[in-house]
Amino acid sequence: MRVKFWGVRGSIPTPTHSTMGYGGNTACVTLRTEAGHLFILDAGSGIRALGQHLLSNRENEPLTGSVFISHFHWDHIMGIPFFMPLYHPNSHYSFFSFRHPHSSFQEVIEAQMNVPYFPVPMKSMAGERAFYEIGEQSFEVGDCLVTTRRLNHPQGCLGYRFDDGHAAFTYATDHEPDGGPFDRNLFELAHDADMLVLDAQYTPVEYEGGRRGWGHGTWESALQIAREASVKRLVLFHHDPDRTDLQLSQIVEKARKQFPALDAASEGWEVRLSRTIPVARPEKMGALERVYALAATPPIPRLVNSVVARTGD
Ligand SMILES: [Zn+2]
Ligand SMILES: [Zn+2]
Repeated sequence: MRVKFWGVRGSIPTPTHSTMGYGGNTACVTLRTEAGHLFILDAGSGIRALGQHLLSNRENEPLTGSVFISHFHWDHIMGIPFFMPLYHPNSHYSFFSFRHPHSSFQEVIEAQMNVPYFPVPMKSMAGERAFYEIGEQSFEVGDCLVTTRRLNHPQGCLGYRFDDGHAAFTYATDHEPDGGPFDRNLFELAHDADMLVLDAQYTPVEYEGGRRGWGHGTWESALQIAREASVKRLVLFHHDPDRTDLQLSQIVEKARKQFPALDAASEGWEVRLSRTIPVARPEKMGALERVYALAATPPIPRLVNSVVARTGD
């Protein structure tokens, strides 16, 4: 599978001279499996450039894919109105995330385009869309096994593990270590993964200086989790808006002394993941209920047994 970073910043876009090295757009990562299925992880401002790329390349590949939203804070959904493939009549995208206590997943996504926040309602987008509400489970999308677990973040957040039989990739943004069940969830998602993309917004000094409980981790907590979960490669993600390129480079240099296979995510970085021993796939279980769909024939994900064993219970 191939991983590409389109947005790596947390909280708000930062188009400043001191942040453009690693990038100023908010969260958006793509995953292309060996069979060619496209997964889009979060729809922050980085998804705009992805949309331009997909449209310019549409002669070679269809405008389809699966969009996994970690949660509904603006930095993870603000790019949707500017993701131009959604306006294209021949596009089809399936959206996945959890149900909000007061609104359906679809309503939450559509709301940011309602009056008076945006001039064009989501219903005006000509492409087909399907919305799937998911919990903590495993299911197949295309050739890929997807496993989800809840992370520790205000108003909730889902972490994702993708396994196409060639490599395992874990996306876990917006997580504050809790030393309890949420860390165990993260361990399950990340165990033995070829790459872990993990929230590392703060320095340890910042965290202890009044940001405890804000829903984010530090680069030190990230590498501790990566080590415990035997992750092959750790990528620090969701960079603080105030973090300059120079500061990030210094963090990487310091952190690599403790965990050499470490990088800080940067916009435009693309990496291929594979392993010589294929990742084992579990048995299939049944069909995931399609909770809401605008499309006539969206792909129905299939539930399968959990790919990772629970630890401690
Ligand atoms: Zn965020
Ligand atoms: Zn958040």
